[in-house]
Amino acid sequence: MNYRHIYHAGNFADVLKHAVLARLVVYMQQKDKAFRVLDTHAGIGLYDLSSDEAQKTGEWLTGIGKLMEADLPANVAPLLAPYLDAVRELNPDGPITLYPGSPKLARMLFRPQDRLSAMELHPDDCRTLSRLFEGDYQVRITELDGWLSLGAHLPPKEKRGIVLVDPPFEVENEYERMVDGLAKACRRFATGTYCLWYPIKKGAPLAEFHEALKALDIPKMLCAELNVRSDREGGLSGSGLIIVNPPFTLKDEMHLMLPVLKQAMAQDRYASHRCFWLRGED
Ligand code: SAM
Repeated sequence: MNYRHIYHAGNFADVLKHAVLARLVVYMQQKDKAFRVLDTHAGIGLYDLSSDEAQKTGEWLTGIGKLMEADLPANVAPLLAPYLDAVRELNPDGPITLYPGSPKLARMLFRPQDRLSAMELHPDDCRTLSRLFEGDYQVRITELDGWLSLGAHLPPKEKRGIVLVDPPFEVENEYERMVDGLAKACRRFATGTYCLWYPIKKGAPLAEFHEALKALDIPKMLCAELNVRSDREGGLSGSGLIIVNPPFTLKDEMHLMLPVLKQAMAQDRYASHRCFWLRGED
C-alpha cells in the first residue's frame, strides 16, 4: 500500500468524482428520509495543498485550481455550487490551501439525519481520518478492507444510500475486482446508488471493463468520462465514473457539466468527454 492521495488531491480526476458525488448527495436530500454514504476507500478526508507532497506534483493546480478560476455558465454554476461552495467554505480567505476528500465533502453536505461510514485500510491514514471526525456522531470510520465492506456494511440500515468505490488502482486486476465487487454489493443492496471511479490511461482495458459491467444483471448504469489530454505521453490522461442507479436528472446534468469541466481543465487539444448509458434508459 504505497498510494498516498495527498499527491493527487484536487486533481482533475478528483474534480469529476467530487462534483458528481455532491450531485448524488444533493439528489438524495430531495427526500427527508435519512441516507448513508459508504466510502470504501476514503483517504484522509482533508488535504493541505500547501504541503510538500501536494506541492511536489502540483496536480491540484490543473484540477480544482483551474475550475475555481473558471467563469462558469449560468446553467452550470448551480450544479457545481454544492461542491465548489464546500471548497470555498474551507478556504474563507480566498486562495485554496485546503481541499476536501470524499468523506469530508459528503459530511459537509449532510443534514442532521444523514450518515457516513468510511473505510480506510492504511493505518496512518485511518488514524488521520478518525481524528478529523472525532466526536462526530454522524460518521463512523473503520480500518477495514473496503472490498469487504461491500459485503459487511450493505445494505445500510437506512435502506437508502450512496456507495463510493475509489480504490488506488495500484494492482493490475483492480478493474476486475471492481466488477466483482459491484456484483456482490448489488446482490445485497440492489437499490443503492453506486459511484465507481476508474483511471483512463494508455493501454487501460476500458472496453473489457465496460463489457464486463454490461454483462452484470444491473439494469441502470451510466458512464461519464473526462479526458484532459492525449494518452500518448503515458500517465493518467483521464478518468471515468460508473454510476449505478443514478438520479434520473444526472445524465442531463453531466451533459451540461462535462464540457465546462473539460474547458476548464483541458491540457491539450485532445481533451474529450462522453456520458452514456452502459445499461438501461436509451
Ligand atoms: N476517496 C478519496 C477521495 O475522493 O478523497 C480518495 C481515496 S484514494 C484514491 C484511495 C485510498 O484507498 C487510499 O487512501 C488508500 O490508502 C486506500 N486503500 C487502499 N487499499 C484499500 C483497501 N483495500 N481498502 C480500503 N482502503 C484502501
